[in-house]
Amino acid sequence: MNEQNTIRQRAVIVIGAGLTGLTTAHFLRLKQRDVEVLEQTPRIGGQIRTHTEEGFTFESGPNTGVISYPEVAELFTSLLPHCQLETACKASACRLIWKGKQFHALPSGVFSGLFTPLFTLSDKWRILGEPWRPIGTNPDESVGDLARRRLGNSFVDYAVDPFISGVYAGDPDRLITRYALPKLYQLEQHHGSFIRGALAKRKEPKSKRDRLATKKVFSARGGLSNLTDTLGSIIGHDRITLNAQHVTVQPQGRGWRVGYQQHGSTHLIECDTVITTVGAYALPSLLPFVAEEAMRKLSNLRYAPVMQVSVGLRQMHGMEYLAFGGLVPACERQKVLGILFPSSCFEQRAPEGGALFSYFIGGMRNAELMQMSDEEVAALVEESLHTMLYYPAAAKPDLVRIFRHTQAIPQYELSSGERLATIEGLQQQYPGLVIAGNLRGGIGMADRIRQATELGRRY
Ligand SMILES: Cc1cc2nc3c(=O)[nH]c(=O)nc-3n(C[C@H](O)[C@H](O)[C@H](O)COP(=O)(O)OP(=O)(O)OC[C@H]3O[C@@H](n4cnc5c(N)ncnc54)[C@H](O)[C@@H]3O)c2cc1C
Repeated sequence: MNEQNTIRQRAVIVIGAGLTGLTTAHFLRLKQRDVEVLEQTPRIGGQIRTHTEEGFTFESGPNTGVISYPEVAELFTSLLPHCQLETACKASACRLIWKGKQFHALPSGVFSGLFTPLFTLSDKWRILGEPWRPIGTNPDESVGDLARRRLGNSFVDYAVDPFISGVYAGDPDRLITRYALPKLYQLEQHHGSFIRGALAKRKEPKSKRDRLATKKVFSARGGLSNLTDTLGSIIGHDRITLNAQHVTVQPQGRGWRVGYQQHGSTHLIECDTVITTVGAYALPSLLPFVAEEAMRKLSNLRYAPVMQVSVGLRQMHGMEYLAFGGLVPACERQKVLGILFPSSCFEQRAPEGGALFSYFIGGMRNAELMQMSDEEVAALVEESLHTMLYYPAAAKPDLVRIFRHTQAIPQYELSSGERLATIEGLQQQYPGLVIAGNLRGGIGMADRIRQATELGRRY
């Protein structure tokens, strides 16, 4: 039987208990705001989920983030002592790129850049002229076109393309630089060159707060779920409603009415502010009052499908990879997008003497690989342990866990301008409605934390 519960009041409703929603609610609670989070699944964390099995600790969503903004360090500080920031060991500075039949270190300086086999000799010469190349005039230039124009084809193939695979699981020729890599776009627009811009940035005076953005690779001690679980505990479980199904938001007078179903009952909440942090694909049913044409401009955001495979070995078989991981350029035509080495970067990810790898497969350009059966995936990673990581033929993985994300990473493509303008328009038309989440403001965990901190301050 469908029972209707009484209507309750809250000041702010946050929809979605992923990193964005939880961080927003955390900062609102620190200001004593009367906030409640509605989450449709039975757990918090969203894409973040740490698993511990047979002595291995592995992630099924994001593995690591980068401390690109002070907000990341500040969030972790606010969670002490319950959750601790873990930064990757020095080995993580080494990034590998697949070329031919082996991984090569991505050059980290001028000397290694001169001798790397990744780039052609003519492009190595060409880069010397980068500071004098003209500034682009197309505001919607793709990442691929911009990098090709300034750096040359081999840099696109063996540096930009694998970087884009690693971050977006996307296609550099479809992603628009000013939305997908705004800092890179600004370097060219403000300084006329990547190299001159990077040097100027290095010289800029930095406040104590700026210095918190160390650019180090981070996780949480014991895995990223410790971050979201701690956020959940501090917000308070009485302020997080799980299993909230069919959530709908409707304007009502000068505020909002949020309805949802839970265990066969309908619940209604009246509030002043609603903050959505869900993916673009979830918005049509959530905001039914938005006109179809406007909604189409939000929900047409494409998400890359990504399969993540955690692979554990109890023995290293004499192999040790002191690196963050290896990425595979699209031109190399491998089925694997990249392999991360979490046990080389963080503590206690594998039993003593063992190793943990995290394989990424699929992405925008190989979406069909998501259809592989579990047996095919297991065979692919086992073969790659031998052919890509050079484990001896006798080495077999002791643990293989497969996670398929059909809507993993949003692609900031040409439609982004329209989407951002539509969000602005809706927020002005409907005061108290905030459309946040990864459909704007960046796709990484650091971006999510920054956006949420800002929302927590503002509402
Ligand atoms: C495989 C994979 C690898 C990644 N790797 C990295 C990485 O290496 N580094 C990095 O920085 N980032 C990475 N990311 C991105 C990172 O995970 C995200 O930036 C971040 O976790 C997104 O958090 P969010 O809260 O914005 O969204 P989500 O985590 O998607 O949270 C949204 C929440 O809203 C809920 N929800 C949806 N619809 C409704 C509804 N109608 N009603 C109520 N609740 C609803 C969902 O169930 C979910 O819990 C990766 C993502 C994936 C999937």
